Amino acid sequence: MLTLDGATVRFGRRAVLDAVDLEVADHEIVCLLGPSGSGKSTLLRAVAGLQPLAGGRVLLGGADQAGVPVHRRGVGLMFQDHQLFPQRDVGGNVAFGLRMHGVPRAEQTRRVGELLELVGLPGAGRRAVATLSGGEQQRVALARALAPRPRLLMLDEPLGQLDRTLRERLVVELRGLFERLGTTVLAVTHDQGEAFALADRVVVMRDGKVAQSGTPREVWQRPVSEFVARFLGFDN
Ligand code: ATP
Ligand code: MG
Repeated sequence: MLTLDGATVRFGRRAVLDAVDLEVADHEIVCLLGPSGSGKSTLLRAVAGLQPLAGGRVLLGGADQAGVPVHRRGVGLMFQDHQLFPQRDVGGNVAFGLRMHGVPRAEQTRRVGELLELVGLPGAGRRAVATLSGGEQQRVALARALAPRPRLLMLDEPLGQLDRTLRERLVVELRGLFERLGTTVLAVTHDQGEAFALADRVVVMRDGKVAQSGTPREVWQRPVSEFVARFLGFDN
């Protein structure tokens, strides 16, 4: 599905993404872990086409994405700061991508209802965004990202503001949903428990490079370096 081949992003002279090679297979769920500033969000932005590459390539379904604009890449991205459209109500936010893709109205309503239920906000479609708490807004942003069923869904700290109980429930339901829809997922998380529950594979980043990639079990049982061991040991 996704291949990064020597992908490099520079800000000034610093390589924030430093010749990264990464493969995400069809239907695979991959979680990106790593310290703050290690390049996780930059990697997602580069795949989406929001961040130009200084070198290397991004391929989706085998096709080089150089010059392909964001809206043609067929990827969904939920940002860390998950800005909602303040002038639209909750349902309007969730339906946004559906309207753009010309999904019929009845199907829009059905999917919006289903997704609001999934994220624990049933019947909230008519509410103004400004009346929602931060965590509720985050759940609406998650529903909005899921709605168009993109071939590759990228989530940046999708559950960051939610309490543990809700997070644990959502992780299980999301995993089920992704499996049912066959969604390929690349998700950034700070929460190792979440990564363990969600991911087929975890990728630990350090200073713009991949420090380790493997199944959650492999990475936790056999960290390849002191850095990875320390990161996993002290981050929680
Ligand atoms: P966090 O866990 O805190 O979200 P991250 O791994 O997502 O961190 P990135 O947002 O990818 O980190 O940023 C990687 C590095 O690139 C950081 O040091 C950041 O300050 C720098 N950076 C990101 N965007 C820019 C920019 N537009 N100009 C200059 N530096 C930037
Ligand atoms: Mg980030």
